[in-house]
Amino acid sequence: MNQHIHCIVNDCHYWQQGNKCSANEILVSTDDFGSRQPDRIDAAMASQLTPEAAGSCMSTCCKSYVTKGSDQAKVDGIKRMT
Ligand code: SF4
Repeated sequence: MNQHIHCIVNDCHYWQQGNKCSANEILVSTDDFGSRQPDRIDAAMASQLTPEAAGSCMSTCCKSYVTKGSDQAKVDGIKRMT
């Protein structure tokens, strides 16, 4: 699948010029899931996660977000494609 993820969150480690996401995979979740699960729970284990309803777009988030330039250790197995 040739997929393009467009994103305007420019303080994320994976954001690139042209509003593109350079992560090899991402996990979109409910805000509730994103706030209660640690960083290691991310796209690499998506197939093992239980799906849940969000109710609206305002209740979803990108769980793969990492602050650009931060010392936040990557423990989720996501790689930058470029
Ligand atoms: S990981 Fe998420 S927040 Fe970061 S650039 Fe990709 S889609 Fe945007």
